[in-house]
Amino acid sequence: MHREHPLSTTASVRSKHNAKGQGQWALGHTEPLNPNEQSKKDDNPLNVRARIENIYAHRGFASIDPSDLRGRFRWWGLYTQRKPGFDGTFTGVMEPEELEDEYFMLRARIDGGQLSVAQLRAVASISTDFGRDTADVTDRQNVQYHWIRVEDVPEIWRRLEEVGLSTQEACGDCPRVVLGSPVAGVSGDEVIDATPAIDEITARYVGDKSLSNLPRKFKTAISWLPDIPYETNDISFLGAVHPVHGPGFDLWVGGGLSTNPMLAQRLGVWVSLEDVPAVWLGVTEIFRDYGYRRLRNRARLKFLVADWGVARFREVLETEYLKRKLDDLDPPVTPPALLDHIGVHRQTDGRYYIGVAPVVGRVSGTVLSQIADIAERYGSDRVRTTPMQKLLILDIAESDVDAAVADLREIGLYADPSPWRRSTMACTGIEFCKLALVDTKERAATTILQLERRMPDVDTPLSIHVNGCPNACARTQTADFGLKGQLVMHEGKRVEGFQVHLGGGHARHAGFGRKLRGHKVAAEELPDFIERVTGHYLDQREDGEAFAD
Ligand code: SF4
Repeated sequence: MHREHPLSTTASVRSKHNAKGQGQWALGHTEPLNPNEQSKKDDNPLNVRARIENIYAHRGFASIDPSDLRGRFRWWGLYTQRKPGFDGTFTGVMEPEELEDEYFMLRARIDGGQLSVAQLRAVASISTDFGRDTADVTDRQNVQYHWIRVEDVPEIWRRLEEVGLSTQEACGDCPRVVLGSPVAGVSGDEVIDATPAIDEITARYVGDKSLSNLPRKFKTAISWLPDIPYETNDISFLGAVHPVHGPGFDLWVGGGLSTNPMLAQRLGVWVSLEDVPAVWLGVTEIFRDYGYRRLRNRARLKFLVADWGVARFREVLETEYLKRKLDDLDPPVTPPALLDHIGVHRQTDGRYYIGVAPVVGRVSGTVLSQIADIAERYGSDRVRTTPMQKLLILDIAESDVDAAVADLREIGLYADPSPWRRSTMACTGIEFCKLALVDTKERAATTILQLERRMPDVDTPLSIHVNGCPNACARTQTADFGLKGQLVMHEGKRVEGFQVHLGGGHARHAGFGRKLRGHKVAAEELPDFIERVTGHYLDQREDGEAFAD
């Protein structure tokens, strides 16, 4: 048997790690074990706001302290964007910092995807006035701008906060935007509107310094309906009926994608609407106290859940944090199907909501203000973003539906999109993201156009998720066609391409796509590849057989 010499480098490194553990605070390991942890300990990242307002916005980009620029700025939704001009020939030799531009990506959090017309107008004005008319609806219901200068950030905050919006903790190791049903409060299929729980969590805990230094990002989803990707969040509450207590929520923990994808697991407990904030706080505090902080790539909650198992996780939650037992809940007999809300749908009050599909979430400040005009024209004050990068206008009178649909169509937003347009998402990609290896938005848009021409009559939406790198921001592993950007060999050259994951899904079809050898495709051949595989599926499928089956 091989034994390491006690003084070998490997052995000494390992024993050093054992001495310091995984950086779990609850076990007494509070000394920072990497530069990120050190930076968070040196100064609470939320404090960077004062420096932006008082120093950096006046003195400009060059004055920004690097530990603020590459660390704490994120807690206020700011990342430097990729310098223009670097294409897919990037080989990984350069550090992301070398690709850094003096402009920022800025993310405005839209908890629950809920916007009034006044809020939408504020969001739109920031795009046109400060972001060169860029605005992307992200797959976490946020709006993301590009080309933002640090000099303009205080005025942007003023405009957002004037209408009750914020960029606080839109990025960083903290509680990110809370996903919620875009049709909360209006859908006839909904039993409980989860908005009060979302409001309470965001009002009490976003910006709470006791939760602003978590091991990594912390993603939350709360909805009665299966219209949120509840399996890929750190914590999710999904509607469920308890046989005795009635309607409430089924608690899921430990989901996340990226390079070590894991689906969330049910804790097997029922949570009432009123109890959601307390249970959310308990799980978040477990993550803060027991989460691994030594290695960034093992710092998400999913690794702790995987190591502990759900039984131990539940026990720690109940005994150490809530100090009471939670009620048991059996799994649903039939998992629900994912909803995207595209099209025209009747609300419980007799009015209608209209769901439209921008191409891979790309809109602009101009388009957002046109949507505000349309909403206002038909008496609506409620617009919604969805986790599928789509948009909804609520509260349209039946007599106005056709006109509103036509007005939306005029600005390129279709309530009856092709299946391709309906089910394709893309992350930021090489246009602005420093980690990207390939273009995503433009590639997805041209692929949609080609597929609409070649296969206009495909009778089922097939999800295509285009990602610029392994980080899976657009959920690579849970799509019919999950695409992970990488450089691939094509006709003797290294070109932009994708590793393909086939047959993943959410909700009823929850699971990761298969990553088969040889499933790599050059970006320019993507439409051919999807057409070929789809044709094969349509020819071979049996009655009711989904692509993921
Ligand atoms: Fe950037 Fe990669 Fe995320 Fe796309 S998946 S936005 S390329 S980090």
